[in-house]
Amino acid sequence: MNGPVRVRYAPSPTGLPHVGNLRTALFNWLFARSRGGQFIVRIEDTDRTRLAQGAVEGILSGLRWLGIDWDEGPEVGGPHAPYFQSERLEIYQEAAQRLVEAGRAYRCYCSPERLREMRRQQAREKLSPGYDRRCLNITPKELEERRREGREPVVRFRMPDSGEITVDDIIRGEVTWRSELLDDFVILKSDGFPTYHLANVLDDHHMEITHVLRAEEWLSSSPRHLALYDALGLAPPRFGHLPMILGPDRSKLSKRHGATSTLEYKEMGYLPEALVNFMALLGWSLDDRTEIMNRDMLVESFSLERVVKAGAVFNLDKLEWMNGVYIRAMSHEELAGRVLAYWREYPPAEPPQPVDPAYLLSIIPLAQERLKTLEDAAERSAFFFRSELEYEPKGLALKGADAATTAAALERVLSIVEGRPVFNAEALEQDLRRLGAELGLSGRQLFGLVRVAVTGGKVSPPLFQTMEVLGRERCRRRIRGAIQALTGASGGAEPASAP
Ligand code: GLU
Repeated sequence: MNGPVRVRYAPSPTGLPHVGNLRTALFNWLFARSRGGQFIVRIEDTDRTRLAQGAVEGILSGLRWLGIDWDEGPEVGGPHAPYFQSERLEIYQEAAQRLVEAGRAYRCYCSPERLREMRRQQAREKLSPGYDRRCLNITPKELEERRREGREPVVRFRMPDSGEITVDDIIRGEVTWRSELLDDFVILKSDGFPTYHLANVLDDHHMEITHVLRAEEWLSSSPRHLALYDALGLAPPRFGHLPMILGPDRSKLSKRHGATSTLEYKEMGYLPEALVNFMALLGWSLDDRTEIMNRDMLVESFSLERVVKAGAVFNLDKLEWMNGVYIRAMSHEELAGRVLAYWREYPPAEPPQPVDPAYLLSIIPLAQERLKTLEDAAERSAFFFRSELEYEPKGLALKGADAATTAAALERVLSIVEGRPVFNAEALEQDLRRLGAELGLSGRQLFGLVRVAVTGGKVSPPLFQTMEVLGRERCRRRIRGAIQALTGASGGAEPASAP
């Protein structure tokens, strides 16, 4: 094929896009971008019974979030507008009429009841299912009757009576069907809307699509599409059917494997760049080693030759790992910005919003290493923001010492915190080590106690850096609070006000 590559993503707005849908979009986009071609979005909204409210917006925002931009389609327009099939009905109706006139299609008046009965009978007699061509052979008199009854016909495509149809699939190679096993399918419904097959074929032609890359489940539609192209006298595009996405149990990925809608991953704190990298590897690879590839690398190296036939397993652990890799690769400023944006969109229960961006930025270096998702950031940083900590007296106990002794040790810590001219990690470490030695306490014991006092928990990022970030005021207030919790005294503590 000579001209530029033109590919499309043609979702039906029946719900929020799941990972499989957007993997199709991504592969088309990568193919277009890697070949300097165009990527088109077309909304296939002809099945009026399955339209879901908000689905188009969900699809477009999923694409935008992943950074999959389109050259033609909704919102951006283009030379082949409109890009909603429901606004292109005349094109389909006119083509259906042409096919009828050429004897390649015919009107069918069979009622749903008759078709149901026909199917039942076929099942009883173990015949292959499919339309029995009753209306192909309708007599003029019968036709007249049907018309008089006011029945609205559908239009059926007349499949060739014999011969083979072969799809030369870019990914699967040649796949052949015998035409007589494919029945005369509906191309135009009685409400004047086309079926998927007719609209899809005509639009791919009018929109000058060169390659149809879509999910494997559409492979069985492709002989019908080829027959339609032939009957319409149009040259078909190339086809490539992408491998299925499987859950860990190797069955087709579905809701019972967990989140499937792409926007759920956004909400769970996954980064779009990690998801793009991860989805690119669902059925494609650069080699058998390379895992981390940013968008530019993917565009540079993507090729259909390396798309496989076998189903690709969706491994959530791998996505989580990859997300962590992308999080760790970010600058502190970048990550703080992402966390803030995430909290704006999905406000956590804790820390209370809005937070001080500068304070968050100082916390990030302590949390970044362990974050797997943006969602984790709330839990890992919450203690930094609390205005009051709650202590369990047991958690504050120094091993082998009573509450009074523990409180006395904390008093000494407090005077260091209050008196230190420079309040930073090194200085605190020095002073607290010295204090430990003086009190005859091991580092583990004293630091463990201070950790609980200033963070409220036993696990935290490195203690002295944490104290530095918390700052003198917060440390002071928290240690006082801990002493109070130990002694039950209320004197001396300052009222807890926001730092
Ligand atoms: N509208 C179909 C879908 O929802 C498009 C299939 C195709 O790409 O031909 O996936």
